[in-house]
Amino acid sequence: MKKIAVIGSGFSGLSAAACLAKEGFDVTVFEKNQTPGGRARSFEAQGFTFDMGPSWYWMPDVFEKYFQLFGKSPSDYFALKRLDPSYRIYYGANDLVDIPAGVEALCKLFDELEPGSSQHLLRFLEEGEYKYNIGINELVYKPGLSVTELMDIELAKGLFKLHVFQSISQYIRKFFKSERIIKLLEFPVLFLGATPEKTPALYSLMNYADMALGTWYPMGGMYKIVEGMTSVAEEQGVKFRYNSPVQSLEMNGVRAKGLLVNNSVEYFDYIVASADYHHVEQQLIPEKYRKYKQTYWDKRVLAPSSLLFYVGLNKKLKGLLHHTLFFDEDFSLHAKEIYEDPKWPTSPQFYVSCPSQTDPSVAPAGYENLLILIPVAPGLEDEEMIREKYFNLVIDRFEKITGEQIRQHIVYKRTYAHNDFIADYNAYKGNAYGLANTLMQTANLKPSIINKKINNLFYTGQLTVPGPGVPPSIISGQVAARELVKRYRNL
Ligand SMILES: Cc1cc2nc3c(=O)[nH]c(=O)nc-3n(C[C@H](O)[C@H](O)[C@H](O)COP(=O)(O)OP(=O)(O)OC[C@H]3O[C@@H](n4cnc5c(N)ncnc54)[C@H](O)[C@@H]3O)c2cc1C
Repeated sequence: MKKIAVIGSGFSGLSAAACLAKEGFDVTVFEKNQTPGGRARSFEAQGFTFDMGPSWYWMPDVFEKYFQLFGKSPSDYFALKRLDPSYRIYYGANDLVDIPAGVEALCKLFDELEPGSSQHLLRFLEEGEYKYNIGINELVYKPGLSVTELMDIELAKGLFKLHVFQSISQYIRKFFKSERIIKLLEFPVLFLGATPEKTPALYSLMNYADMALGTWYPMGGMYKIVEGMTSVAEEQGVKFRYNSPVQSLEMNGVRAKGLLVNNSVEYFDYIVASADYHHVEQQLIPEKYRKYKQTYWDKRVLAPSSLLFYVGLNKKLKGLLHHTLFFDEDFSLHAKEIYEDPKWPTSPQFYVSCPSQTDPSVAPAGYENLLILIPVAPGLEDEEMIREKYFNLVIDRFEKITGEQIRQHIVYKRTYAHNDFIADYNAYKGNAYGLANTLMQTANLKPSIINKKINNLFYTGQLTVPGPGVPPSIISGQVAARELVKRYRNL
């Protein structure tokens, strides 16, 4: 039985490990932290259970397909609930729109916001569905190793319909004039880590995912997905070693013979690196074996980092839903301060997740559990004083906009930003979501899953194909596992 080491237990590592164990390999996962899940870990404090990272469960079909690989279903591990309304957007004080679940209700809303626009919405979603079917069912499963992968007949036929070469910003404006609709449709692009002007219109597939496939929630919290995937991996025979940061790859010619972990060398036939690509390359691999130089990384466009506040309140709130977006400030300045002229934002937009609106198990009775997220540029100087300034700013805006007093009801608070992403995950510049999905960083143009200088090493995770987000990371693990198996069988 060939032995494989997987570095890291985020979604991509869990997925790669389980897929490889299913193929009959002897798989061990080495994780630097105490628990699995990476950026999607959770913690408990004073009766609250906080999901630390992802809060949006989109593309349920991707999860379904993943669990089916092992003869399972997500429902074997957690109960999913579709949120309706899906989310709320505040455009200003007491000025809000709730986004309903279901296309019929959405058409009604669109006609209210821009008379006659429901017809455009239907066409927009139809094109989004086409892109979703090609993009999520085919493109994202390609390893990104050769342009011939993109020469597939169906793909080539549909290339023009994928709108790869126009921006999503232009594309949305062809259909709609209402500023509110435009803001609402540009929002999912935030997940992709680039401005709407720099994001290919291919990604209107995200609008299809949002509006047609829906926003879901695993009861008990997003960490239930991690628990489910860890169980699947264990059922396949994967072994987990926590508190085990990998210190380096040990080389033997063009092969990695093993890993240095806790100051002792462990021997393996293959390595799958799911920790941040930059960290693996720049810190774990001897210089002459690295695929990319630091200058390559300096030129990459990173997706934003996040300033996060985990907050417990000793009261229930009426002014917000499970997901609430505060779009009361202009995003163009905020976007400029993330992407073009990186600095702490002047007046940021922000997002609040309040899972206790749906799920009583994540907060004590009568209390609320909040995650407040401000997208910020990676690589900023991160100090407690700055975090505190933004905490006060968002609490003031939250109170003004929702009309709810919360400051004196805060019973728990923890902040999290760049320095924590670096300390916890070895994240390059403290990034939260890896690389931005710009045209020049899509598919084959992303950092590669293989390194010709080390022929038994495979990379996976949100910095390689297909990109950031929970569903793409789960797919990334499958892609790396499949490539490893293919090469192993050809040897
Ligand atoms: C705040 C935030 C909000 C998000 N919101 C959403 C959302 O709502 N919906 C969505 O779909 N996506 C969301 N995402 C993105 C999503 O969470 C990530 O894309 C995904 O979790 C990345 O998985 P990964 O396996 O690539 O990386 P990671 O989760 O970072 O896993 C890598 C693992 O490697 C470990 N590691 C690092 N170095 C070493 C080492 N030397 N040795 C051993 N182990 C090591 C790390 O500890 C970590 O566990 C969000 C992310 C963040 C941070």
